[in-house]
Amino acid sequence: MPSKPDKLTAVPERIEADLTELSRIRDPDSNGWTRTVFSEPYQASRAWMRTRMTNAGLDVHPDSAGNLVGVLPGRNPAARPLVTGSHTDTVRGGGRFDGIVGVLGALEVVRQLIENDIQLERDLLVIDFLGEESNGFGLSCLGSRALAGELSAADLDRKDHRGTRLGDRYADFGLDPSDVLAACSGWATARRPHRYVELHIEQGPLLEERNVPIGVVTAIAGIERMLATFTGRPDHAGTMPMADRRDALVAAAEAVLTVRQQGCDAPVHGVATTSRLVSEPGSPNVVPGVVRMQAEMRSVDPGWLSAAQLRLAEEIKLKAEACGVGVDIEWSTDNECRPASPAVHETISSTADAMGIAWEPVPSGATHDAVHIARLCPMGMIFVPSRGGRSHCPEEWSDLNHIATGIQLLGRTLVELDGAP
Ligand SMILES: [Zn+2]
Repeated sequence: MPSKPDKLTAVPERIEADLTELSRIRDPDSNGWTRTVFSEPYQASRAWMRTRMTNAGLDVHPDSAGNLVGVLPGRNPAARPLVTGSHTDTVRGGGRFDGIVGVLGALEVVRQLIENDIQLERDLLVIDFLGEESNGFGLSCLGSRALAGELSAADLDRKDHRGTRLGDRYADFGLDPSDVLAACSGWATARRPHRYVELHIEQGPLLEERNVPIGVVTAIAGIERMLATFTGRPDHAGTMPMADRRDALVAAAEAVLTVRQQGCDAPVHGVATTSRLVSEPGSPNVVPGVVRMQAEMRSVDPGWLSAAQLRLAEEIKLKAEACGVGVDIEWSTDNECRPASPAVHETISSTADAMGIAWEPVPSGATHDAVHIARLCPMGMIFVPSRGGRSHCPEEWSDLNHIATGIQLLGRTLVELDGAP
């Protein structure tokens, strides 16, 4: 039995100071708290984070995939390590808590363990994963994807809208692209972690609505992305009679409503969103001939997700045909639905019960680094409430007392998992 775990008490002032200091490192020319992957502020924030990790008592080893890895040595260096962490990059115009709470919270856990002379059996790894948010290359979770062996040479050839290769962005950031790929086989084959737990803000309204301070994640939603191309016929907008038109944008508008309806009909947590419509030729006096539409569906129920994809494609085609418009639909899986490990979920929830903390099981509609690390070991996540459910915006906010509660639960959960066979 590990010693003195009941003494782990997060210090809110320290957490607040860390949050405030990190929030100052941001792009001054962008809205909100902007620190996108590979940017100058991100580079600066990681130098800050490295010093912070060292000051907390961690041995810091940046890996070749760009992750900052801090190690708190355990009694048995041969044992599989416990891993926690999250990310410190933001979306453009983002907030001060998404991802950040998981990394800074882990540092507070480390300080608490050291101050209370609690040495774990296993090494504890605190990771600030490289670039979790989706970027101009259409790829999220760069660092955790690499550790899980899910980043490929083809991914490094992806280009952003300026035509820059992802591999070249890595190189500009000081990372050798071939080393990044080499990192992909490291963890998957060599030293698999024992357990992974990530503390994160909920980014949705459920916990606040139910007035509970902690959510224990049941599963992380799978994401299916759709690219539909509607092909009608461009005609003179002043002369072609309404009945004779083959208007691609009208067909796409029907599709937007169909996407929405599929999301509304989802039985458990399911959502569907159209995010982009590009109409050609886009002239005010021409009936739209071609429209490209980008949409996605998410759910923690893989059965519903795959059935909804089929229904959606069918309905979009039928409605387009009625407009005299052809449609070509391509799907790509961003990530599959990833249930949390039942054993880790049970450890988190029973630890919360023992601490007298109210909690609710919640699904995660957002994706996280945990999706990828779950390929390597049993995974669990702890959520703290987001005010008004707002996230990925400057108004993103989580109360300090909720964050402190989440950190205490993370600390005690890690102590419990340290002893798990
Ligand atoms: Zn995040």
